[in-house]
Amino acid sequence: MIPRTIFSAEHEEFRKNARRFFNEEIVPHREAWEAQQHIDRKMWNRAGELGFLCVTMPEEYGGAGVDRLFSVVLMEEQSYAGDSGSGFSLHSDIVANYINNFGNAEQKMKWLPKMATGELVSAIAMTEPGTGSDLQAVRTTAVEDGDDYIVNGSKIFITNGYLCDLAVVVVKTGNSGEGSKDISLLVIEADRPGFSKGKPLKKVGMHAQDTCELFFENVRVPKTNLLGKLGMGFVMLMQELAWERLMIAITSIAGAEAALQQTMEYTRGRKVFGKPVSAYQNTRFKLAEMKAELAIGRVFVDRCLEMVLKKKLGVDDAATAKYWCSDLMGKVIDQCVQLHGGYGFMMDYPIARAYIDCRAQRIYGGTNEIMKELIARTM
Ligand SMILES: Cc1cc2nc3c(=O)[nH]c(=O)nc-3n(C[C@H](O)[C@H](O)[C@H](O)COP(=O)(O)OP(=O)(O)OC[C@H]3O[C@@H](n4cnc5c(N)ncnc54)[C@H](O)[C@@H]3O)c2cc1C
Repeated sequence: MIPRTIFSAEHEEFRKNARRFFNEEIVPHREAWEAQQHIDRKMWNRAGELGFLCVTMPEEYGGAGVDRLFSVVLMEEQSYAGDSGSGFSLHSDIVANYINNFGNAEQKMKWLPKMATGELVSAIAMTEPGTGSDLQAVRTTAVEDGDDYIVNGSKIFITNGYLCDLAVVVVKTGNSGEGSKDISLLVIEADRPGFSKGKPLKKVGMHAQDTCELFFENVRVPKTNLLGKLGMGFVMLMQELAWERLMIAITSIAGAEAALQQTMEYTRGRKVFGKPVSAYQNTRFKLAEMKAELAIGRVFVDRCLEMVLKKKLGVDDAATAKYWCSDLMGKVIDQCVQLHGGYGFMMDYPIARAYIDCRAQRIYGGTNEIMKELIARTM
């Protein structure tokens, strides 16, 4: 097996703590959280207390100032534990990055330290009922009124939406007709009058992850909440999207590796016609194919991570990783369900949960069709 070379002893030490946290403090609550369709609010404070939120943020803003591989460790351990409920990485590795990269010192001081402790839960609200893939077509407006903007519109499928205390919202601030120039990013706190939330949406999988609609009705937001420059929202989004897509590739490989491990164990224990399922050539070939494909995916993702550390990951490489690894995850988990027989369709078995949870990986973060568009544009 090709060894992984990107992690140091410090990362591995951090991994042990992260593994303990997910297995002992998250997994036991999974069913209860699936029933209520969100994790307990206090788990955010607990994750913050343990130093698992916003780790890559500068220390002056409450983070640990460490490299993104620490975030990768958290994402992988969450996937190995089969936790699809906590939206920690979206909060720490997407929303916090927008505030840190594009916010001014005052904005960073106001929001980041509280995000690092879990006092503030954050979301990113791009998608609308009328538009998802075509981000430039958003219709939520922010109209100037003195020192404020008045925001009207709605967002859908927003991860952490139900529990969020603030959201980075993609708004339309102009009418130039050149889509991208009319878009800005506005931080909107959830307690502003006119900001309301729908009930968590009933999804096919990821039942413990809170995903909901957000509504804005004449919400007055001070101009001081604008992130970066007016009309530069699209450019800011593009800058971070490569990393966000790689995050999906990282969790796809880790989730599929976990599924393969579970399937190896299951097929060794289950006997059919007097022999373990793992003794049949079909099983051995399927397991071998999955191992080979995951090894190839893993090496590609780790190379992309090296590029991330050098700040050189290309849009097309991130799109390649996102599309190929999430497709692979779907294929691997589907085959793993098959090797479990009927038990693979029963929710008591982790593979069944993995099956329903993994489907969204091909949809969010930009659908895999959009990923192929991005790759094709570079050819
Ligand atoms: C569980 C979950 C969590 C999510 N979390 C968030 C979140 O936190 N924040 C947020 O803003 N959004 C979030 N989303 C939304 C997600 O990013 C969108 O659903 C996704 O971008 C697709 O948009 P859409 O649903 O409007 O599909 P559409 O854009 O309507 O796409 C429909 C189909 O058309 C295809 N298509 C679209 N354009 C093209 C094209 N140019 N060429 C070929 N095919 C095309 C798509 O690939 C897809 O198959 C989440 C979604 C899910 C399911």
